[in-house]
Amino acid sequence: MVIKQFVVNSFGVNGFVLSNDDGEAILIDPSVSNEQEEEALARYIETNHLKVRRLLNTHLHLDHVLGNAFVANKYGVQPEAHEEDTFLLELQEEQSQMFGLPLREPSPALGNYLAEGDSIEIPGIKLQVFHVAGHSPGGIAFYCEKPGVVNGQKDVPPLLFPGDILFAGSRGRSDLFGGDEEALVSGIKSKLLTLPKETVVFPGHGPLTTIADESRWY
Ligand SMILES: [Zn+2]
Ligand SMILES: [Zn+2]
Repeated sequence: MVIKQFVVNSFGVNGFVLSNDDGEAILIDPSVSNEQEEEALARYIETNHLKVRRLLNTHLHLDHVLGNAFVANKYGVQPEAHEEDTFLLELQEEQSQMFGLPLREPSPALGNYLAEGDSIEIPGIKLQVFHVAGHSPGGIAFYCEKPGVVNGQKDVPPLLFPGDILFAGSRGRSDLFGGDEEALVSGIKSKLLTLPKETVVFPGHGPLTTIADESRWY
């Protein structure tokens, strides 16, 4: 697998392109918000001859869905996320005003719901879905237990893409649209901190961390 990270929009979202040896790609929160960011993403996909298979959202706050319309239109895939966050797609305009994030084209409706226990699979890449409410009601983390060779490196530990559930040294806020601090903490403890300590975490914002490092705070 190859992992490419893009830091995009004025909120500094980490968007990811995961691709396999056959050039099939899974996008997680691409979040591109302007022409330059769209071009950089499209150029990467074209240069590497990638075929976009899935468009996944960790949750549906506006900063994470800004690239959905562009990716859906260009590559013919529909966004997938947890059903309990779908109400946030009705609030894109409100979020745009509230956060000062310009909305060029709203995200299309979800093409598929993702739920706890689901797996997203293309050859060589398998992501398991964990539902952790609290930052948003339908927040999900994608867990890759056996990533194999990643960016040319062998023996890579498990990987976790938790969106805004977990950050390096902190966690997502719980005071927005249906947030719940208690649910967030208990979900992090029961579902994420129980993963192997060496798991590398790729948060929705900011630097990478590990489950071992984040366990120290709980
Ligand atoms: Zn968020
Ligand atoms: Zn965010």
